[in-house]
Amino acid sequence: MDKKICTYICTGCGIGEALNIEELSEVVTGEMSQECKTHACLCGVEGKAFLENEKKTEGVNTFNICACSPRVMQREFDMGDDTITVRGNLREQVVWAAGTAEEGQEESHQEWLQETGSDYIRMACTRTAKTELPEAFEMESMNKEILVMGGGIAGITAAVEAAKAGSKVTIIEKADALGGKANGWAKQFPMAYPYAELEDNSIASMIAAVEADANITVKTATEVARIGGAPGDFKVTLKAAGAASEWDAPAKVGVDEQDLIDKGEMEDPNAGLKAYSEVNEAADTFGAVVLATGWVPADVSEYEHLGYGSNDKVVTNAEFEAMAKEGKLDGINNVAFIMSPGGEEHDEDFPYANSVTSMVALKQAKYVRENNADAKAYILYQHMRTPGNMEMFYKGIQQDDGIFMTKATVTGVEGGTVHAKDTLLGEDLDIDVDMVVLAAGMVPTTKIENTINLAYRQGPAFLDLDLFDGYADSHFICFPYETRRTGVYACGGVRKAMNMQETMDDATGAALKAIQCIESADRGVSVHPRSGDKTFPEFFMQRCTQCKRCTEECPFGALDDDEKGTPLPNPTRCRRCGTCMGACPERIIGFKDYNIDLIGSMIKSIEVPEDDDDKLRILIFACENDAYPALDMAGMRRLKLNHMIRFIPVRCLGSVNMAWIRDALSAGLDGAMLLGCKYGDDYQCHFVKGSEIANTRMENIGDTLSTLGLEPERVRSEQVAITDYDTVYTLLNDFVDEIVELGANPFKGF
Ligand code: SF4
Ligand code: SF4
Repeated sequence: MDKKICTYICTGCGIGEALNIEELSEVVTGEMSQECKTHACLCGVEGKAFLENEKKTEGVNTFNICACSPRVMQREFDMGDDTITVRGNLREQVVWAAGTAEEGQEESHQEWLQETGSDYIRMACTRTAKTELPEAFEMESMNKEILVMGGGIAGITAAVEAAKAGSKVTIIEKADALGGKANGWAKQFPMAYPYAELEDNSIASMIAAVEADANITVKTATEVARIGGAPGDFKVTLKAAGAASEWDAPAKVGVDEQDLIDKGEMEDPNAGLKAYSEVNEAADTFGAVVLATGWVPADVSEYEHLGYGSNDKVVTNAEFEAMAKEGKLDGINNVAFIMSPGGEEHDEDFPYANSVTSMVALKQAKYVRENNADAKAYILYQHMRTPGNMEMFYKGIQQDDGIFMTKATVTGVEGGTVHAKDTLLGEDLDIDVDMVVLAAGMVPTTKIENTINLAYRQGPAFLDLDLFDGYADSHFICFPYETRRTGVYACGGVRKAMNMQETMDDATGAALKAIQCIESADRGVSVHPRSGDKTFPEFFMQRCTQCKRCTEECPFGALDDDEKGTPLPNPTRCRRCGTCMGACPERIIGFKDYNIDLIGSMIKSIEVPEDDDDKLRILIFACENDAYPALDMAGMRRLKLNHMIRFIPVRCLGSVNMAWIRDALSAGLDGAMLLGCKYGDDYQCHFVKGSEIANTRMENIGDTLSTLGLEPERVRSEQVAITDYDTVYTLLNDFVDEIVELGANPFKGF
C-alpha cells in the first residue's frame, strides 16, 4: 500500500490547554516531515466526519491520531480495514499524568510537559511511518468440525451446544457408552427453584439428545492416538481405546539405559515410534478440540488415621455413590461424612476438593435419610461451601433433624468410631457409625495420563502441568477455558472440580470458544487476548542461525522446526504475543505493526537532552494487558508522574528484545524498566510465560551492562496488576529517584 500519512492532534479533553499545540504541530511537520492537522474534538460527531472526509477526499490511508489512550475510543477511530491507524497517547499519559506544578517550578513544569508531549508525538509519528498494513493469514484448507474428547456431562453438553450453534461435532469416548461418571449417580443436585430436593439422574435423556442430533457423530471405545496440525486444520488419528499405537509418546529413557541401547544390550522402547512432528496424513481433520476427559477420584489412602484401605467401614464418596446407585444402603443407618482430613493439618481440605465435595456430602446425607427415616448422617467439615443457589439446598438440609453438621477436626477413625475435636459444639466427639465416607477430590485426567498426544515440537502433552496441579491452565482468571495449546479448550472436571450445573455452563463456554477459534482461524486473525489481530510473526529465514530459541520459548507451541532447527510457524496456533521476537538473537522475527526496527526507531526518536540532570530520560516498556491500563487509570486519577518517564506499550514483556534495552542505553537514555504481569505459581501473564522469560533475560542483560561499564541498576523488571493504578506511579517515580542518584548515563552524547 502506498501510504498517505497525516497526523491529527486533538485539542479536546484539556490537551489544547495544557500543551502548546502549535509547537507540537511543528515537531510533526518539521522534524518528522509529516502532514499535521488539529481538531477540537476528534472523537465527536464532527471529528469523526472530519476524519472520514480526510480518508475520502484527501486520500489519507494512514492516520496518526494523537489524542486519548489507544484503549479508549476504538470504535470512533476505526478508520477501516484498508487503513493504518496509530494512536499517540497525549491525554492519559502526558497531560493527565503531569500533576500540578510545585511552587516556584511553574515554568519548568510547563517546559517538561511540552517536552514530554513532543516525545510522544515523535514516537507516534515514527510508529506511523514504520507500520505496514497487515494481511490476514489464509489457510490452505479449513475444517470447521469440532472434536470433543470425552462423552460425560461436559463432553455431551459441549457437543449439543456446538451443534445448536450449527457446528458439526464428533464425540469420542473411551468407554463403551456415553455418560461418563454421571452413569454412576443415584441422583443429581437440584437444578431448579426451590433447589430443595434431589432430582432423578438426567444423563439418559442427555445421551438421547446427542443420539438424535444429526450434527453429532459418536465414537465410543475410541481414543486419540495423535493430534497434529493447528486450529482450522487439526489432523487427528483415532485408535481403539487402550490399544497401543505407532504414535504413542516416546518413553523416557535414562542416561544408563541409553548407553545400553547404544551398545545393543537393551531394546530401544522408542523404536518404531514416529518423530514428534509426524502426523498421519490420512487422519481426520477438525477445526478445534474440546477437552472434556474428566476426572478420577483422588487417592485418600495417605491419611492413615482415617483408615481408608485398612478399615472396611471407610469408603470414598465415589464408592458411596455407587452403593447408593446399586441400592446397597440398607442396614447402613448411621454415616459420618468427613470433609477434611484433619489430623495435624487442621484446616486443610482433601486434595482436589472444593465446593463440589461439600455438596456431594449433602446429597449423600440425603440418600441416607431417604433410605431410612430413622437413619442419621453426621457431616464433619472445615469448610462448608455451597455457592449460588446451592445455598438453598444447604438451608433445606439444615432443617433435617437427622442430619448433623459441625465444623470439626477429625483426629482418627477406629473401627466404627470417628474421633473429632475443636467442634462448633465446644466438645470433643466420638461418633459411632456404620460407615465413614471420605470426601475424596476430583483429580483431572491430564494429571494422570496424556490423552491428547500432540505432534508438537514442544512435546506431546501440556507443559508445566506440575506447576498447576495437573491442570492444563493458560490463564486462570482471564481465560479459564484456554489451554496453552491454541484451539484446545478444556471444560468440566478436567479443568476444575465442579458440579453438574457448573460443568454444563463450563462446557457451553468451551464450545463457544472452540467455534470462536475456528472462525478466527478462518478469517486469519488471532484469538484473544489479541482477538482480531491480523498480524502474525514473519521470519527472515535467510539470517536464521537455527538456534531454536523461538521454538523453545513460544508459550503456545506455535512453532515446530525441521531437523536442522529451522522454525516452522503454524500461524493459527499463534497468539501474536511476540515472545519469539523477543527471543531471537538475530532480530529476524517481526510483525507488520510491531517489530525490532519499529520499536527501536521509536526509542531513538525520543529526544535526549545533554548536560541537564533535571532532564534524564527513563524508558518504561509497559505490557498492554495490565501495566498499560493501570498507567492510564493512574492518569485518569490525575496522579503525578515524574516528567522524565516515557512509556512504550508492548504486547507482552516476552516480546521485548534485549536489543531495545541496548538501543535505549546507547541512545543516551538513563534507565529502562520492563513493567508487566506477575509471574510464578500464581502468574497473571496473559501469554503465560512472557513476563517470566523477560525477567530471566533482564538478569542476563545486567551482566552485559556491567561489562560496558554501566550500572546494572539502570535496568529493572517489575510486576504490576491492573488494580495497581494507585501505586504504579510511585513505583516508577521511586525508580526515577534511584536513576537520578546514579547520575546521567555516561554514554550520553557519544
Ligand atoms: S511466541 Fe507468540 S507470537 Fe511467536 S509464534 Fe509463539 S504465540 Fe506466536
Ligand atoms: S530465534 Fe531467530 S535465529 Fe533462532 S531459530 Fe528462531 S528465528 Fe532462527
